[in-house]
Amino acid sequence: MRKIAILGATGSIGKSTVDLIERNRERFKVTAVTAATNVEALAEIVRRTGASLAVVADESRYADLAELLVGANCRAAAGSEALVEAAVGEADLVIAAIVGCAGLRPVMAAIEAGKIVALANKEALVTAGRLMTDAAAAKGATLLPVDSEHNAIFQCLAGNCVDHVSKIILTASGGPFRTASAETISAATPAQAVAHPNWTMGAKISVDSATLMNKGLELLEAHYLFGLPSGRIDILIHPQSVIHSMVEFVDGSVLAQLGSPDMRIPIAYALAWPERIETPAQRLDLAAIARLEFELPDQGRFPALRLAREALEAGGAAPVVLNAANEVAVAAFLDGDIRFPDITHLVEEALGGAKFDAPSSIGDVLEIDRVTRERARAMMKASCP
Ligand code: NDP
Repeated sequence: MRKIAILGATGSIGKSTVDLIERNRERFKVTAVTAATNVEALAEIVRRTGASLAVVADESRYADLAELLVGANCRAAAGSEALVEAAVGEADLVIAAIVGCAGLRPVMAAIEAGKIVALANKEALVTAGRLMTDAAAAKGATLLPVDSEHNAIFQCLAGNCVDHVSKIILTASGGPFRTASAETISAATPAQAVAHPNWTMGAKISVDSATLMNKGLELLEAHYLFGLPSGRIDILIHPQSVIHSMVEFVDGSVLAQLGSPDMRIPIAYALAWPERIETPAQRLDLAAIARLEFELPDQGRFPALRLAREALEAGGAAPVVLNAANEVAVAAFLDGDIRFPDITHLVEEALGGAKFDAPSSIGDVLEIDRVTRERARAMMKASCP
């Protein structure tokens, strides 16, 4: 029986995790679940999973959560310290599926407690990748990538030596605007941007997929997870999202992981690792798919890729600035305050003016994140008062 904590249980990844756990009750026991504000959904997940600790990040929702949990044999808690408690408690494996930098402290706490950490929260690796991988090595924690591309690479690397890798090829669907003209992209609405052609995901990551910033963040994520430099991580558009990523070895062999675009496959891989469990994901029917296509990304229409590569190569605080400015810009776009191309304009402006020392702790990362968010909001105000 593996004990599981689900950080971000009410989100898209969290719900898929709960679905898999309900189908495999004999293998998994949920110990803790968390949410930001959605106490109703959290209480429902407690009822379905039997979790004994439920944490809401927003302390003002504590009383509502406690009331909803009366008679549920589950302790309610609130606030950032309680999120850390959920991460370091009795769980063997922590599903890290909080969106954004809010996940940093609990993820680092789980790593420092030597847990198996199934990491969906890509912003944690993007902003504090070196700190997290160093801590995992020091504390004997295991990092299992849940992001489908990194999970694919992890699967391709199994049984192989990283020294024999010549490059990683991250595949990208190209998002909803892959074939759109620059003019159409300029006028994109939030509803169009979140309408991903292949995957159903949370709003923030869906917008990131539309700008291709998601692939940029994944470039950074791959760099920290697998230790390869920027020049040995390629990005390839593959509209069908059947090949989730590939690894090319020094002998010219290329291994790929394929599957239908259903996050329950990589989540199941992480949950059961090093074993495998059945999932309800649709089986691949390659004869029906018939064609797998590939093309190089267009950096002109999608400048986010260039910005992410520049941030990776600059190192230090640049990935933190990239991520923070992007989070602010995506939220403003979803609120209708800025246009779609302004997302990457804002990120580029924030990167240009950033002057920070390289972070040496999670506290440093969070401070750079905080200052960058303030700068980004001020920049937005100045350009659209
Ligand atoms: P969602 O927006 O669907 O869910 C986010 C979860 O985090 C919710 O449980 C939410 O709670 C919680 N949360 C949000 N803000 C905070 C906060 N400040 N403090 C504590 N908890 C918070 O996101 P996704 O599930 O789509 O994505 C989660 C992570 O996984 C992201 O980093 C994303 O990039 C990554 N990922 C997602 C994929 C997908 O297919 N969805 C694929 C690969 C990676 P509440 O419900 O109360 O708001």
